[in-house]
Amino acid sequence: MSRILIIAEHDGQALNPATAKTLSGALKMGISNIDLVVFAADPSAVAPSAAALAGVSRVLTIAHDDFAHPLAARLAPEVAALAGDYSHVLAPSTTFGKDLLPRAAALMGVNQVSDIMEVIDERTFKRPIYAGNAIVTVRVPDGGPVVATIRTASFAAAEEGGSASIEERSPQASNPGHTRFVKVEGSDGEGPDLSSADVVVSGGRALGSSDNFAIIYSLAKKMGAAVGASRAAVDAGYVPNELQVGQTGKIIAPDLYFAIGISGAIQHLTGIKDAGTIVAINKDPEAPIFEIADLGLVGDLFELVPELENAV
Ligand SMILES: Cc1cc2nc3c(=O)[nH]c(=O)nc-3n(C[C@H](O)[C@H](O)[C@H](O)COP(=O)(O)OP(=O)(O)OC[C@H]3O[C@@H](n4cnc5c(N)ncnc54)[C@H](O)[C@@H]3O)c2cc1C
Repeated sequence: MSRILIIAEHDGQALNPATAKTLSGALKMGISNIDLVVFAADPSAVAPSAAALAGVSRVLTIAHDDFAHPLAARLAPEVAALAGDYSHVLAPSTTFGKDLLPRAAALMGVNQVSDIMEVIDERTFKRPIYAGNAIVTVRVPDGGPVVATIRTASFAAAEEGGSASIEERSPQASNPGHTRFVKVEGSDGEGPDLSSADVVVSGGRALGSSDNFAIIYSLAKKMGAAVGASRAAVDAGYVPNELQVGQTGKIIAPDLYFAIGISGAIQHLTGIKDAGTIVAINKDPEAPIFEIADLGLVGDLFELVPELENAV
């Protein structure tokens, strides 16, 4: 019988919205048994919200001090040990899922399907290739389990309203010992998370310096938006790497996206393919970003952005 296991992504306090989007992808597979597993030092804060997601049959909680930080090297053997009971093992195609699931698939001796963007049936999926320029349909051969990451930008978050049971389980694998947590370096945590924000304000090379990027942060703050950037802005050192949107950055699907001083290279557009409304500000009326923008302002960003901020 088909049964899905979803690996929950969380920070120990709250479920990452990517988990509810992964659940939406799972629900499209037409399989009614869907378990969600929470690995944590103390799963008690996260498990109730996991159980409240509509469509989840059971939440499995597995507690261990090792899980205070989600190290893929430590979690992968646990996932592989659990997987025997399941026909499908899924995780979001976030940094967390992309790190963890290929390791688990390797331990299980199967291939992983990356970035499912559409479900045809429980073993057949569509996924992007060539930086999103082509979509390929793949079928997982019968016999082994389906191990796959779900492209969170392609699925809306599953609703709440469920009341799944919560079952405690024990860790089954030992710590491989070769990998240990040292520290996390990231943004200061201000503002919404770029991967899941409803509104994103991104700046490009045209900002010219990290000091000038302050106008992007200021507009984003006023709008309650996350800040993003083009690769050119990241490579020039204006903003940290984790803000990069695009093929080699984050793939996002905000309701509203501002591309400010960004030309609209294909590698950038790959990251915003599923965005709702795209607003572009660029002084070049021929910039490719205007071909996909819903609203375009032609002009100097250093004049238009402060005006926009005043109008918000
Ligand atoms: C393998 C590969 C992967 C890549 N991955 C990514 C990726 O993930 N994300 C990504 O973004 N890029 C990626 N790139 C790079 C991509 O090809 C572009 O080089 C990059 O997106 C350009 O960034 P930009 O639009 O900020 O800069 P530019 O292309 O230099 O554009 C700057 C724009 O700002 C406008 N401008 C200048 N001054 C002003 C002003 N005062 N007011 C208003 N507008 C102004 C200009 O008209 C121009 O359109 C990748 C490239 C490769 C080869």
